[in-house]
This record gives sequence, structure tokens and C-alpha cells, in this order.
Amino acid sequence: MTTGRPQIVIVGAGIAGLSAAVELTQAGCTDVTVLEAMDRPGGRAHTVSALGIDNLELGTTWLHGNKDNPLYNLAKQNNLLEEAEVKVHPAGDKFYTEQGETVDLDFVLDFWSKLDDITDQAYKGSGPTDGCESFQSVGKFVDLKFSTELLKPLDTDGIVNRKKLILAWYKKFATIDNGCNSLYDISLSEMSKYEELEGEANVPIPKGYGTLVQVLVNMLPQNSIQYKKAVKVVQWSSESDDHEYPVIVHCEDGSTYFANHVIVTVSLGFLKLNHSTLFEPPLPLCKVDAISSLGFGTVDKIFLRFPSPLLEKAFSCIQLFWDQDKEGGKGVEEQTWFKQITGFHTLEGHPEVLYAWIGGKAAEFRESLSDTEVGKVCTQILRQFTGRSDIPDAVGVLCSRWQSNPYICGAYTNVPVGCKAEASEVLAEPLPGDAKCHVKGNCLQVLFAGEATITPYITTTHGAFMSGKREASDL
Ligand SMILES: Cc1cc2nc3c(=O)[nH]c(=O)nc-3n(C[C@H](O)[C@H](O)[C@H](O)COP(=O)(O)OP(=O)(O)OC[C@H]3O[C@@H](n4cnc5c(N)ncnc54)[C@H](O)[C@@H]3O)c2cc1C
Repeated sequence: MTTGRPQIVIVGAGIAGLSAAVELTQAGCTDVTVLEAMDRPGGRAHTVSALGIDNLELGTTWLHGNKDNPLYNLAKQNNLLEEAEVKVHPAGDKFYTEQGETVDLDFVLDFWSKLDDITDQAYKGSGPTDGCESFQSVGKFVDLKFSTELLKPLDTDGIVNRKKLILAWYKKFATIDNGCNSLYDISLSEMSKYEELEGEANVPIPKGYGTLVQVLVNMLPQNSIQYKKAVKVVQWSSESDDHEYPVIVHCEDGSTYFANHVIVTVSLGFLKLNHSTLFEPPLPLCKVDAISSLGFGTVDKIFLRFPSPLLEKAFSCIQLFWDQDKEGGKGVEEQTWFKQITGFHTLEGHPEVLYAWIGGKAAEFRESLSDTEVGKVCTQILRQFTGRSDIPDAVGVLCSRWQSNPYICGAYTNVPVGCKAEASEVLAEPLPGDAKCHVKGNCLQVLFAGEATITPYITTTHGAFMSGKREASDL
């Protein structure tokens, strides 16, 4: 206030926090400070050098949509996508059973596309949602369609079993896509409120998302971001807008920042665990309800480096059809966590490296195991499914641990059964607000951005980016 310019603190240097800081800086705000708890920017965008490769993506992997995607446009303007646009002939998947048999590719691909059609119906809101409000799950809808439309009276027992195996595999990777523990947890009616951007669904950034994060960091004045500054308390005023510095931000290390406005961009997972102590006074009930009713699941990756490529050139993925599946069961045991792995994919440009996705409670349990233990189990799975006992041990293993990261606490947001997608809008409302979380007065003390705060684009980096811009523009 001594300078007459607004002092703004942004909590978190993930994509939302960086995008807010860039927008404010470009609008001429000179007193913008970003406080980041970790020792790096990017948050869930985390590219690392490991296993002899300098662009392993531990978190976000693709830009979703190349039309009207502001983050894609930024990457393109900065020449970060050139190699990605050179299309290579896509290599195929190999599907195996637990008994080491391969499954007929044409049959799997045909049935897979039928399952895609069903989930498309769910996502586009053309499912039987009337009267179900948000209380019917995607899992139940898929099961219903499976038994009424995809199983045929003339199917032999063998065909029925095969279809069931494919369905179980499909549901597992859909749980990863949705960042949940089970498709039975996800609200069917709310799926249609998620909007996919047009164009290429999955665009990788060849040198890694870290390069895009760096572009954003470079757009800020030097030293705008302060690292290892974990915010402990955001002290705001539920009433007044006439204090000189209405918001005081206290960090774990004892430092204090005074601000006219604070933009909080921490993950929904962090809010779930910490909102009651992070805000003083506590958040209004409507916001607490939004935080607890939205879901935040775990998704992780496992990278394995072998002495030489395991797959012939024509194939890029070993897909796993597990027997006796129980989808996302509660209380995942030591003996079953690995059954949530859907397959092992070749890392683009590195045929000696395979990686797997794992989601839900199984991923949470897996985070308690060492990389070495995980590597042994994965190698054993590969030997069993492919029937190749000669597969050597992995020479390097790297696993992400997003749930255990105290500043992330999971992977991304979902909308569970019983929750409305608009809870994200309540989460985005600024403070001070009235009992319904509508903004009170015009001082905008605390604003909220981040992937969880933008209904049509939850889960995505472009959603995080747009939400940061949105809050900065509001200021
Ligand atoms: C395994 C995985 C794969 C994914 N794949 C994709 C994908 O392919 N495409 C896609 O679009 N999205 C993907 N996502 C989701 C995407 O990464 C997120 O939606 C996006 O990065 C979220 O950005 P954000 O800024 O909202 O939050 P975050 O990235 O979580 O940033 C919040 C920041 O706040 C910091 N912070 C937390 N608490 C404090 C505190 N108390 N004080 C100070 N700082 C704090 C954190 O350290 C973090 O840096 C993936 C995520 C994961 C985990």
C-alpha cells in the first residue's frame, strides 16, 4: 500500500499459480510474489532426468486438444512441439492373459471400440441419466450396457469370458483416466459437464513439460518465485475490506507476507487434508462442503529400464488381462495391488524402457513399497504374461509417489456419485463470501485457482492454466 500498487501473493508455483503470475505481470502488476512449498516450479508437471533419460514425465504427460488450447498454443509459440508433430506409424498393442496366451487382436480392438462408444455416451450425457441426478455411477451404466447390448444370446461361454476380461481391463484404465478408485464411485450425470477440447487428444511435449514450465517461469521478473516457502496459514478477514493489508500469509519457516490479495492454487488433495488449519478464520461451510464432496484420486507411473528392448519394433505395449478381477476393491492387499496395472508401454524413443500406469487404492498401497520391490514384481508379471522366463531383471526402476507428496496428496480431481460438478465453481468463489459462497464486498481478499476449480476442464493442465488466468483477470 505504501507504493499504492496492489500487493499480491500467489500460493503455489504449479501451472495455475504460474499462469496467474504471468497474467498479472503482463497487466502491469509489479508486486507479485509466488510462494512455493517445494524446491521447484511446476507442481504436478514434473519432468526428471533418470534411468539415463532426460525427459521422464513423472506427472502430467500430454496436452489434451490442439484447438483452442491456450497451453498448447503457448508450447507451439515457443517451438516446444516440433518433434511431436512428426507422426510416426503407430506401433500396436499385444494382449496377454495371465496364463501367457495372446488374445486375438481384432477381437479385442473391435470390442474395445464398442466400450469406447458406451463411455462416450456417458461422457456426452446421452446415457439414461433422467431422474438419476448425480446418484448413478459410470460403472453401473457401463455394466448395464455391457449386459444388455454387448453380450449376445449366441455368445459361447468362451466369448462371454473373453468379453468380461476385456471389460475388466477397460474399467481399470478408465479409473486411471478419471483419477478415481473405481468407476462405481464416479457420477454418470456429471460426466457430461466435462468438456474435451477439439483436436489431437494426446500431444506430448518432446523435451518434457518441464520446458513449458520454464517458459512460464521466464515470463516472470527474477525472484518472483520463492521456493521452500510452505504456507501454513492464510489469515483473512470475514468482514472488512478496509484494512491496509487485509490478508497475512504465514509460512512454515516463520516468515510472514502481507498482501491485498492472495491467490491460492494448492491441489484439492492438499485442501482436503489441510483446509481447517490453512485458513483463519476457517472457510465458510459451503466451501468446506465443496472440498469434501469432490473426489481426488491417486494415479502413479512406474518406469522400468531393461538392458535391451523387450518388444519387437512392431509393438509398443504389453496389455494385461488379469483373471478373477475385482475392480478397485476396498482394502487392497499386498497380494493384489499389481493387478491394477493394465499394461506396460514402451517409452517413445527408448525401446529399452517400459512404463505402467496404476491408479486408486492400489497405487496408494504401491507408494509404500520401494522402487526395487516394485521392479521385481513388475518383471515377474512380464515374465508370466508373455511366457518368457528369459526376461532379465530391470536395471533401473523409478516410481512416482503423488499421494505421499505432502504438497500434492494425490493426482487429480473427479466428481463422485452424489456430488455436482458445479462444486468446482463454489471452490473457485473468492473470500470473503456469504453463506452461499457468493462474494461479499469488492476487496477479493483470497481467490482460488487450480485444476479443481474449473468445472469443464477439471483434471487438466489447460484447466489449471485457464483458472490462473481467470483469477488474475478478476483482480
Ligand atoms: C500422474 C499424473 C498424470 C497426469 N497426466 C495429465 C495429462 O496427461 N494431461 C493433463 O492435462 N493433466 C494431467 N495431469 C493433471 C495435471 O498435472 C494437473 O491438472 C495440473 O498440473 C495441476 O496444476 P495446478 O497448478 O492446479 O496444481 P499443482 O500442480 O498441484 O500446483 C500446486 C502447487 O502448490 C504447491 N503447494 C501446495 N501446498 C502449498 C503450501 N502450503 N505452500 C506453498 N505451496 C504449496 C505445490 O507444491 C504445487 O507446486 C496428470 C497428473 C498426474 C499426477
